[in-house]
Amino acid sequence: MSFIVAIDGPAGTGKGTITKLIAKDFGLINIDTGATYRLEMINQNVSINEKDKIIKISETIKIDIKNNEGIQTIFLNGEDVTDKIRSKEVTALVSQVSAIVEVRLNMVKLQRKLAEGKDVIMEGRDITTYVLPNADVKIYLDADVKERARRRYKENLEKGINMTYEEVLEKIKIRDHNDSNKEIGSLKIAEDAIVIDTTYLTIEQVKEKVADIINKAKGGQQC
Ligand code: C5P
Repeated sequence: MSFIVAIDGPAGTGKGTITKLIAKDFGLINIDTGATYRLEMINQNVSINEKDKIIKISETIKIDIKNNEGIQTIFLNGEDVTDKIRSKEVTALVSQVSAIVEVRLNMVKLQRKLAEGKDVIMEGRDITTYVLPNADVKIYLDADVKERARRRYKENLEKGINMTYEEVLEKIKIRDHNDSNKEIGSLKIAEDAIVIDTTYLTIEQVKEKVADIINKAKGGQQC
């Protein structure tokens, strides 16, 4: 039987980092669903206004995710695009792409297939509410928007992405708005999700809380 951990929350709450760490500690396959939407705009020579073309891509896209100790490498037609999908240009467009209903339905199908019969930790915006509502563990990570922007700003600096703090904050607010106002799969807290506010917590503290929740769900067994 498979064991599923689902994590949702807005950008900058630490979902990606926590998911990697927990995947490694608990031997779960890490599936970052944001990556599936990001891939839509890579190497496709398509603009955001070409809705039909974007939908077509979502029907035929060939994603290959390799997992090694919680670290995900993402391939598109054999090319490692793990870093490319996190670029400023892709980030600016991705929430609009993911709001297209047909794209969502195709990607959700793909995400469910990636999880089928496996022990996984899947993170995104609608995993607890829509993609895997029967998950064994459901967590919603949250944090104050200014703190989320600060984290993202710092991360960008480390990656050499050139954006001011104000720009990052503005972009996160726009993404929050888009993510909460989608026709299907908008970001909301599932009734049975456990909410963790990470504003004043370190990554290690959040990881411990998540690990406790998973251990409880597994009936007290240690990882
Ligand atoms: O998590 P990440 O920042 O990579 O996600 C990129 C975008 O993809 C989000 O801003 C959101 O609009 C969209 N997304 C989504 N549903 C998911 C995962 C991501 O709508 N399950």
